Amino acid sequence: MPDVHTLELVAALTRDISGRRTAARELAQYLGAEDLLLLIPDRVHAIHLPAFGFPQTLFRGRLWREFISQVIGESFAIAELSYPTQSERRTARGWVCEGNVVCVLFDGQPSLDRVQIVCSLIPLISAAFEGERTTIEAAGRAKIAQETAHKARELAEALDSVRRQLQATVILREEDIRQRQRIEADLERSNTDLQRFAYVAAHDLQEPLRTIVGFSRLLLKRYRTALDSDGQQFLDLIVSGGLRMEELINGLLIFSQVSGPFATKPTDAGVALKKALADLRSKIEETGATVTHDALPVVLGEPTQLIRLLENLLSNALKYRGEHPPRIHVSAGCRDSEVVISVQDNGIGIEPRYQEQVFGLFQRLHGSEYPGAGLGLATCRRIVERLGGRIWIESRVGEGSKFSFTIPLAANATPEC
Ligand code: ADP
Repeated sequence: MPDVHTLELVAALTRDISGRRTAARELAQYLGAEDLLLLIPDRVHAIHLPAFGFPQTLFRGRLWREFISQVIGESFAIAELSYPTQSERRTARGWVCEGNVVCVLFDGQPSLDRVQIVCSLIPLISAAFEGERTTIEAAGRAKIAQETAHKARELAEALDSVRRQLQATVILREEDIRQRQRIEADLERSNTDLQRFAYVAAHDLQEPLRTIVGFSRLLLKRYRTALDSDGQQFLDLIVSGGLRMEELINGLLIFSQVSGPFATKPTDAGVALKKALADLRSKIEETGATVTHDALPVVLGEPTQLIRLLENLLSNALKYRGEHPPRIHVSAGCRDSEVVISVQDNGIGIEPRYQEQVFGLFQRLHGSEYPGAGLGLATCRRIVERLGGRIWIESRVGEGSKFSFTIPLAANATPEC
């Protein structure tokens, strides 16, 4: 039976942590040793925790682990071990008490009887430590919960800030889009106005111009003899200037008619080519040109504009011929959903630096030796772009030019190229 003194010593161990070290020493001395260590098995981690807050690393040492296993396996063991620091070697005796608690006594000559009494009181100590551990664990969990809540709050705030930034970006983008739509609408409107203006101006100018040219010709016819040579020359200049102006106005009229989206439909490019060639028959004969062509497919186009496009390119090929009679070939190469149609000539060619410029309005590379208003290729580009394609030139000065454009193939059309 434990006496009051033993009970008091054991009870002292379970009191608060600051006096526990001294209580352990007093109990050790009562048991005939110099120091005492109780190792209580940890429910969760299956390791023995030191009852007195000694560094846990102490028990990770191989010798300590072997010692404790031996104590648990054989109820008692003795060994030379480092305690409480690595450099202090001490004789350790260990017993297994109730609930697998290991009681280690250092040095001295412990009394076996007293050790057994203390061992029987171990459940009291274990219970006290169990309570303490539960409190510590609960505090740990509360701390973790608090930290988690804090982190969650921080995360929520960060997310909220990202959401606000995104919202601001979306608002800005929407405003951007609205502004762009306004600009596009303005541009569309001013384009239409300009188009209308060009058409009306060109159309209305035709009539007075015809009057000027017609009456100048009449004057020349009836009164040529009444005029001196200067007067005759002035009237000739008025007529040729008027004719040139007529050419420009006609070009402008045609150009301004190529407007708005085309109502496209399956169009036989071969038929369009035949019509263009028929319109140019006299020029072909006049120049002694040879025109050959591949079979052209059915495309998604607009017949009148396609004829105009081919006619412009063919008429340029005839006009800008070299010393030899023109040899013109129209080819077609299908790829995926579109066809590349090319008009190749053996004419004077175009320097690479002008190959983009010639598609601009009123852009001419030659003077009066070649008639023209500089609007043909601008009209071609406009037609091609409105048909959803693009147009380009491959050419070498003196070796001829190849004008190519793409145009969508009609759906379900059997490509003939
Ligand atoms: P134009 O009425 O002067 O023919 P275009 O717009 O049709 O106007 O052509 C613009 C310029 O591009 C022409 O003045 C000419 O210098 C050049 N050009 C067009 N087609 C050819 C061609 N097949 N070969 C060489 N030069 C060409």
